[in-house]
Amino acid sequence: MTDARGAQLAEALAVLRARVDAAAAAAGRSSADIELLPVTKFFPASDVIELHELGCSAFGESREQEASNKAAEVNAHFPDDTIRWHMIGRVQRNKARAVAGWAYAVHAVDKVALITALDRAAGQALDDGTRPEPLHVYIQLSLDGDPARGGVDIAAPAAVDELCAAADGAEALRFAGLMAIPPLGVDAADCFARLARERDRLQAVYPQRLGLSAGMSNDLEAAIQHGSTCVRVGTALMGQRPLTSP
Ligand SMILES: *Cc1c(COP(=O)(O)O)cnc(C)c1O
Repeated sequence: MTDARGAQLAEALAVLRARVDAAAAAAGRSSADIELLPVTKFFPASDVIELHELGCSAFGESREQEASNKAAEVNAHFPDDTIRWHMIGRVQRNKARAVAGWAYAVHAVDKVALITALDRAAGQALDDGTRPEPLHVYIQLSLDGDPARGGVDIAAPAAVDELCAAADGAEALRFAGLMAIPPLGVDAADCFARLARERDRLQAVYPQRLGLSAGMSNDLEAAIQHGSTCVRVGTALMGQRPLTSP
């Protein structure tokens, strides 16, 4: 960690916090209800350590192998602290056990079979004491039905309902809310408004407060305007990633 990188991260974080505060104020919301989740994929553990020292205690990662290595390194650096790692990328079913070993939450859940695998893996980790609490899951919705980006089609409410019920009914999981990524070239505010309406529809069914994982570097204001409770921010905080980013 060079001092220059630390200063760069501190400044970017301050700018971002101000963006979140301003967007919350514009929406008449409290910024305490909006989690700023730094997305640290492709960046080294030393950056995460620096961000933790700047007050961040949760981080988003999208690739299992990279994340499990980084989490082990960072967690070992702060043995007395609880750091919450969020898996924001797609999870293959055969990675469920690995993910349940380090993740606090999984954001891109869109298959009943994946829910079953995550439940089994989290249940085993709870039993053997390697995780302290159920795995939080967000159901990912697709706003255009394109399977390439993942997510269950928001226009298919029966399929959405089935996934939410499966997540809510799984003993070792906690159904935490909905997640979406706006399709390219589509108005993000429209997407987030549809997502919020879907959350409201489901909120009538579930007693726990359902969150919205929505908004990234370029559209977090629109997401906060429409009720996001977790903005996942990479580039605006960390700088440019290599172009091969998933
Ligand atoms: C990489 C990633 C982000 C961060 O995107 P930025 O535009 O760099 O802020 C957010 N969400 C998911 C699912 C990602 O994979």
